[in-house]
Amino acid sequence: MIKRNICLKKYNTFRIGGRAKYFVEASTIEEIKEAINYAKKNSVPFFILGNGSNVLINSNGYPGLVIRIVGGEAVVSGTSVVADAGVFLPALIALCTKNNLSGIEWASGIPATVGGSVYGNAGCFGKAMQDSVVWVDVINIKTKKIERYKNEECKFGYRESIFKNNPHLIILRAKLKFKKGNSVNIKEEIKKCLDLRRKKQVVGFSAGSVFKNYEFKNIREKKEFLKKFPDLEKNISNNTIATGILLDLINLKGLKVGDATVSPNHANFITNNGKAHSQDVLDIINIAKKKVKQKFGIVIEEEIRLLGFETLDKKE
Ligand SMILES: Cc1cc2nc3c(=O)[nH]c(=O)nc-3n(C[C@H](O)[C@H](O)[C@H](O)COP(=O)(O)OP(=O)(O)OC[C@H]3O[C@@H](n4cnc5c(N)ncnc54)[C@H](O)[C@@H]3O)c2cc1C
Repeated sequence: MIKRNICLKKYNTFRIGGRAKYFVEASTIEEIKEAINYAKKNSVPFFILGNGSNVLINSNGYPGLVIRIVGGEAVVSGTSVVADAGVFLPALIALCTKNNLSGIEWASGIPATVGGSVYGNAGCFGKAMQDSVVWVDVINIKTKKIERYKNEECKFGYRESIFKNNPHLIILRAKLKFKKGNSVNIKEEIKKCLDLRRKKQVVGFSAGSVFKNYEFKNIREKKEFLKKFPDLEKNISNNTIATGILLDLINLKGLKVGDATVSPNHANFITNNGKAHSQDVLDIINIAKKKVKQKFGIVIEEEIRLLGFETLDKKE
C-alpha cells in the first residue's frame, strides 16, 4: 500500500533524511512491479531503497516514491541459495550457517539487503558478492521484462556492477553459490570477521565507508604519486590505496560540521551524532574531496549514494 509523507530517517543507517512524498515497502516481484507501475502511471520519480545502509537522504525530503525492497524469501537448493532482493544479509548468513554452506561469512556485520549488496558488489576482507553470484534477475523498466544476468554479464568490479550504471535495472533476486562446509567452522569464521570489524568499530549512525578506495588509473599516475609520496608505497595493493589512509593524512579524523563527525577511529566513516542534517555530511564530503585533491592531486569518489539531491537522482 502506498503511504504518503513518510519520514525516511528510520529507513537508513545514517538516521538522516526528510519525508518521502510517497513510500511503499515491497518484497515480492509482484509488489515491486506494482510500485513501479504506480510511479509510472502517476508520473512521479522513484527511488529503490534496500536497507538504507549506503545512502545519504536529503533532509529536505524526496518529492517522489521511495520503493523500499525488504523481506522476501531465500530458498536453499544443494549448495545454492536463491534469495529475493529484500532478504537481509544477516538472515542469509544465518540460513547458510544452518545449512552448512560456507562462502558468505565475510559479510557478517554488513547491515544490507541482497539487492543492495549485489548492486554495489559489497565486499570485505578481499571477498565480494561477485564471488557467489550465479545469476541476477532484474526487472528492466524500459522493456518491462524480467531479464537474467549471469555473473559474467553483471560487470562486477570494485563496488561496481552493471546495475549501478543502469538505473532502469531493478534487482529482484539472485542465485548465490556456496561451498559445503560445517556449521562449527562457519561460526568460527563469522566470529573472526565480527571481531575484526569490532576493532575498527565506529560509534554513531553511519553508512559505512563514505568514499571508495582510490584505484590508480594507470602506471604513470601511480609512479607520479609515489615520486611525491614514497612512504605510501606500502599502502598500495592491487594498484589501489585505501582512501581512509589519505583522509587520515589530511587530519580529517574528528572533523565536525553541525552534528556530523568524521569518526576518530576510521577517517572514511562519517557519523551522525543524532541531529545531523544531510548538508552537514555533504559539507564534510566536499572538504574531504578538496583537501585530498590539494594534497595528493587525486579525485576521490563517493561510495554512498545520494537520494533527494536533484542532479543525482538517477532512477527517475
Ligand atoms: C556499519 C556498516 C558497515 C558496512 N560495511 C560494509 C562492508 O564491509 N563492505 C561494503 O561493501 N559495504 C559496507 N557497508 C555499506 C552498505 O552496507 C553496503 O553498501 C550495502 O551493500 C548496501 O545495501 P543496502 O541494502 O543497505 O542498500 P541501500 O543503502 O538501501 O541502497 C544502496 C544503493 O543500492 C540501490 N539498490 C538497493 N536495492 C536495490 C535493488 N533491489 N535493485 C536496484 N538497486 C538497488 C539503491 O538504489 C542505492 O543506490 C556498511 C555499512 C554500514 C552501515
